[in-house]
Amino acid sequence: MSKRYDIVIIGAGIVGAAVLYEYQKRNPQHKVQLIEKEPVAAFHQTGRNSGVIHAGVYYSPSSLKSTYCRQGLQDTIAWCRDHHLPFEQCGKLIVATNNDEVQKLDNLFKNCEINDLSPERITQSRLHSMEPNITGKEAVLVNSTGITDFTAITKSLMAVAIENSNVTAHFNTRVHAIDEHDNCVSLLTEVNGVKRRTEADRVICCAGVYADDLIRKQGITPDFKIVPFKGEYYRLSSKYDNVSKRLIYPVPNPDMPFLGVHLTKMIGGYTTVGPNAVLAPGREAYHSLPSYSEIFRTLSYKGLWRLLWQFKSSVISEIKSSVSKSYYASLVQKYCPSINEEDLHYYRPGIRAQAVSKTGKMMGDFEFLSTDRVLHVGNAPSPAATSAMPIARAIIDKMDTT
Ligand SMILES: Cc1cc2nc3c(=O)[nH]c(=O)nc-3n(C[C@H](O)[C@H](O)[C@H](O)COP(=O)(O)OP(=O)(O)OC[C@H]3O[C@@H](n4cnc5c(N)ncnc54)[C@H](O)[C@@H]3O)c2cc1C
Repeated sequence: MSKRYDIVIIGAGIVGAAVLYEYQKRNPQHKVQLIEKEPVAAFHQTGRNSGVIHAGVYYSPSSLKSTYCRQGLQDTIAWCRDHHLPFEQCGKLIVATNNDEVQKLDNLFKNCEINDLSPERITQSRLHSMEPNITGKEAVLVNSTGITDFTAITKSLMAVAIENSNVTAHFNTRVHAIDEHDNCVSLLTEVNGVKRRTEADRVICCAGVYADDLIRKQGITPDFKIVPFKGEYYRLSSKYDNVSKRLIYPVPNPDMPFLGVHLTKMIGGYTTVGPNAVLAPGREAYHSLPSYSEIFRTLSYKGLWRLLWQFKSSVISEIKSSVSKSYYASLVQKYCPSINEEDLHYYRPGIRAQAVSKTGKMMGDFEFLSTDRVLHVGNAPSPAATSAMPIARAIIDKMDTT
């Protein structure tokens, strides 16, 4: 049995890294360990997202998403400035291309006002002069939205934490079991086929798409399952590197947590389109099929079928965008007509961790679940990369008071 830790944090995505940083900052004398099953940090969602520092356009003002996202935007930019990491506050345009979308834009505009984002309503002619390659009937401009490299932020949060010699990070280490006792938590871990036990006073699980799995590994049955939704992107030909000065988003379906295929300026100077949102057969099935048990886990969930039935038309459209490049291109052409199918080149996909209840509801807000000694981040979908630092502060505040 190895020496006991004050705290073990599971998962080296941006949420785990921010929790690690925040905890060691407040408790520099404590012995802290971070455990990650992959060889490097930010291997999954954090390293496979759009890189957008969201401002808080879509979230209900009373939600955690709204509070943490708005604070997270400030924190992310401050961190980038202080640690010389790349970012650009290029702003974002949400473009309505028909009358129905113009109506939905009204609601988004109001929500932006309530969330104090100082949005601007942009007419068709102004849109054309601001972004000559973009067409639409009207748009909403949010200037504070930005872009960054969340992998770089994750690595830098960890690097700062690990400067403290009481903090260690263990990669290639998978947590198999979490046993909570009266006086400690015992973790069963595996490195290169060798299993061993690690003890800690407390554990924080930031496991992304495996969030529900780790809750179950503690012997608790959550009332939701994480459903993996794949987001497929394309990178545009280099002639489109400057196709827009700002991020260009469509008007989303207000019932869905996904934002629609958008045009994203990336740190690095190129532009991507995406992501769509199709059911993935497995939690990390980026390219190949996962094991039968993983497929069974996803497909046997009644909540998933209820959800898919409820959103049949969106589901069909997303599947079409996955199997047909020309259909995918048509989604972009609605607001950027010059982009053709031939301009879309392979880009790495991401898989979102989205909690879905047994009744088939997508859980919209960030969710946490805790016992005396263990806290699980249960649902941390977008904009959790933007919101990671406030999420971490809230988690450590909660621990400090219990
Ligand atoms: C396609 C896509 C686009 C997105 N776009 C944006 C965006 O533009 N802006 C934004 O703010 N957010 C965006 N998001 C959301 C954002 O990326 C995630 O909310 C955020 O990265 C979640 O971070 P995390 O640390 O919780 O999860 P992850 O980054 O997935 O990290 C979880 C880690 O836990 C590890 N782990 C799991 N189980 C175990 C175990 N048993 N033992 C050890 N380690 C384990 C995993 O290997 C993984 O490294 C996007 C997400 C996707 C997928």
